Amino acid sequence: MDYAVSNRDTGKVHPMTDNQSFKLTKHPSPTSPEKRAALMENPGFGKIFSDHMVTMSWNAEQGWHNGEVKARAPFAIDPAAAVLHYAQEIFEGMKAYRTKDGIALFRPEENARRMAMSAERMAMPAIPEKLFIEAVEALVRADADWIPEGDGSLYIRPFMFSSEPFLGVRPASDYIFCVIASPVGAYFKGGYKAVTVWVSDDYTRAAPGGTGAAKCGGNYAASLIAQAEATRNGCDQVVFLDAVEHRWVEELGGMNVFFVMDDNRLVTPPLGGTILPGITRASIIKLAQEAGLTVEEKPYSFEEWRKDAESGKLREAFACGTAAVVAGIGSVRFKDGSFSIGNSGDGEVTARLRANLVGIQRGSVDDAHGWVHVVR
Ligand SMILES: *Cc1c(COP(=O)(O)O)cnc(C)c1O
Repeated sequence: MDYAVSNRDTGKVHPMTDNQSFKLTKHPSPTSPEKRAALMENPGFGKIFSDHMVTMSWNAEQGWHNGEVKARAPFAIDPAAAVLHYAQEIFEGMKAYRTKDGIALFRPEENARRMAMSAERMAMPAIPEKLFIEAVEALVRADADWIPEGDGSLYIRPFMFSSEPFLGVRPASDYIFCVIASPVGAYFKGGYKAVTVWVSDDYTRAAPGGTGAAKCGGNYAASLIAQAEATRNGCDQVVFLDAVEHRWVEELGGMNVFFVMDDNRLVTPPLGGTILPGITRASIIKLAQEAGLTVEEKPYSFEEWRKDAESGKLREAFACGTAAVVAGIGSVRFKDGSFSIGNSGDGEVTARLRANLVGIQRGSVDDAHGWVHVVR
C-alpha cells in the first residue's frame, strides 16, 4: 500500500510504501545473561539500555527506507545536522510488560498517532501507524530478555530527528527514526508515595499556537529551568500555568494532572494546543467514567486549587503519564506559600484508578477496551 508523504520543503508529494520490514542483524556480542541480570537488579529509570536499536531513514526521494534492527551504537551525524541547531526532534514513550498472555504493549496505536501529529506540527514526515508499531515490535522481540519480571517494564523510546547538514532555516530534507529501550523498575519503590509539586511563577511551558501538544524535545529543554527551580524548592515536579493569564493549571513538565472533588467529580484541564494529550490521561478519563465518576475537562485555576484544597472540596490530586503511571500529589508549593491536599498522601480514588489501569496493563484486570496489544 502506498502512503503519500509530503515533503514540506518543496510541497511535493512523495510515494512511500509500508511494506518496509526491519532487517534484523543480531548484536555480535550481546550482554551476557549474568551481566544483564546484575544491571536489571536495580535499573532505576532510563539509565541502562538493551542491546539493540531500530533505525530507519527518510529522504524526499525514497520516503522511509533502510529499516533495521541492529546492535545499539552511537550515531555518526554531521555537525551541521539540523537537529543540533534548530531542534527538529520528536519522541514517544511507551512500555512493554510481561503478562500471562506474553509480551504486551499498551495502546501502541495511540503512540503511533500522536507521533504522526507531533511530526506534522514540527514539519517532519509522518510514519505510518503500522510501520511504527512494526518497529516497536521488532525491537521488543530482539530484546525480549531485557523485559523485567515483576513490577518492572521495558521503557521504549521511539524518536525522530532531522539529520540534513544544512544551516538554512527550513524543514530538513533528511530524517532518522530510531527506537531504543531501557529496562525500568517500579517507579515508586516500596509503595506509592505522594509527590510535592512546585507551581512555577516565572516560567511557562507552552503558549497558544506553540508546540505544547507535540511531544518534542524542545518543550522539555524549555521546562528544565523550572524543574531545577522545583528541585531547589524541595519539590519533585513542576506544575505550569497557562502562558496568557498565568492563572489556569495546565500540566506538569511531563505528566497530565487531575483533581478529585468531594462530589464524585474528576476535573482535568482541557486539551487545546498547550497541553500534551497523554494516553494515560485519556485512559484514566475512560476508566473514571466507567467507575461512575463525572469527568469534567475544564479550566481550573491555581486560585480555585488553593481554595478547594483549603476548604476540603478538593479531596485528592494526581499526575499521570507512562513513566510514573499515576502519582498522587500530596502538597503544593509556590513563591508565597504552600498548601496540602487531603491527607497529604496517596488518595483513595487515586489508588483505585491506578490499580485498575496498572491491572489492565499487566493483564490482571480484564481488558474490556482492547487496549492491550500482545506482541507475537
Ligand atoms: C508524554 C507526556 C505526558 C504523558 O503522556 P502519556 O501518553 O500518558 O505518557 C504528559 N505531558 C507531557 C508534557 C508529556 O511529554
